[in-house]
Amino acid sequence: MQKRRVVIAASERMSKLPPYLFAEMDRLKTAALRRGVDLIDFGIGDPDEPTPPEIVEAAREALGRPEFHRYPRNAGSDFFIEAAMRWMEREFSVRMGDDLAIGAVIGTKEGLAHVPLVFCSSGDVVLVPNPGYPVYRAASILADAVPVDVPLHRENGFLPDLEALDRAALRSARVLFVNYPNNPTGAVMSHDVMKQVVDFARREDLLLVSDNSYSHIRFDGAKPASFLSIEGASGICLEFHSLSKTFNMTGWRVGFVVGGRNLVRAFMSAKENIDSGVFTAIQAAAARALDLPAAGLAGRLETYGRRREILVSGLANLGWDVFDSQGTFYVWAAVPRGWTSVDFAGRLVSQAGIAVAPGVGFGSWGEGYVRFALTVSEDMIMKALGRLEQMEFCSIKGRAAALAGRRRSCRRES
Ligand code: PMP
Repeated sequence: MQKRRVVIAASERMSKLPPYLFAEMDRLKTAALRRGVDLIDFGIGDPDEPTPPEIVEAAREALGRPEFHRYPRNAGSDFFIEAAMRWMEREFSVRMGDDLAIGAVIGTKEGLAHVPLVFCSSGDVVLVPNPGYPVYRAASILADAVPVDVPLHRENGFLPDLEALDRAALRSARVLFVNYPNNPTGAVMSHDVMKQVVDFARREDLLLVSDNSYSHIRFDGAKPASFLSIEGASGICLEFHSLSKTFNMTGWRVGFVVGGRNLVRAFMSAKENIDSGVFTAIQAAAARALDLPAAGLAGRLETYGRRREILVSGLANLGWDVFDSQGTFYVWAAVPRGWTSVDFAGRLVSQAGIAVAPGVGFGSWGEGYVRFALTVSEDMIMKALGRLEQMEFCSIKGRAAALAGRRRSCRRES
């Protein structure tokens, strides 16, 4: 009997994922490295400094404990959850009463990516910031939900104008993603605007999902902020916290979700069917990190602050138009008139050996900008500025006119 031919194809929803617009950059970077170019890479938001030694030591000790070699507790070990509770109280003045709960996630990326799967039915609308971290959009598509843009405009300080959203889309909307301090623009959100967002989410019956991955990287002198400190938020909000940026722990894959008890319970019970939690030794290291004195946090912020000052003032001296952001370790700068962000970023790699992320990779409203990550040393930033000085652009001042590619948007970034 003849064997039936089976065509194994990816599902239809896979074809709905936006194209990976960083691919061309990856190709150009690889080509530059092959040519022996001494590449200065501002492209990836991955801290260059190592994880603090106390945290590494805690992991080393934890590795020696056989009981940690077994399946982890899915919701997170008690010692990790308790450290996260202390952290919420110490850093955000959020008291963990009976109404709130915490669960461990394998980095906020994993946590955020599972939100639409847990809280949306097919066809439900998910409100996603544009430009924004591409995972919100991709995760919505993978859950058969419909991502609808919340445009972030410079005129509005890259804050969402929620009242301008389409009423018809709002009727089917279930989830609103917000991310401040914001990737990729660096914008921060004031307490007053956070209150307005909570009021809006309550009025429109939305699950408010706050991606607080950059909570501690802000230069406006304000304390780190949590939506859960705002009255009325606890029952409608899930907030994701990451150890990746705060403690230079991107490779460790650990974070936590905090929010209304029922929401966290629903979320964690779905995850029980998907993964088996965070390796307990990693949770031990993360618990140690959360309990460390705040001096380490301040030191890391100072490092980024110095780098930011050098890059922002250097670019301004060269006539660049840089958004005056107050948070994250990103610098969001307009590309010269007549360029798209992809073409301009490509030119920087091939002619100056400088890699940046093209703004359109974060969504169509990111067109006209490129993102620099402050994850390179001060010396390298100065070297990059020296190279940029040698380059000629017709007019660096002002946003790109070529916004035709605005409808394009993009998917991935780790
Ligand atoms: N959210 C945002 C806005 C990010 O920029 C990133 C990392 N680039 C993440 C979430 C993922 O962080 P984690 O390492 O905790 O998965």
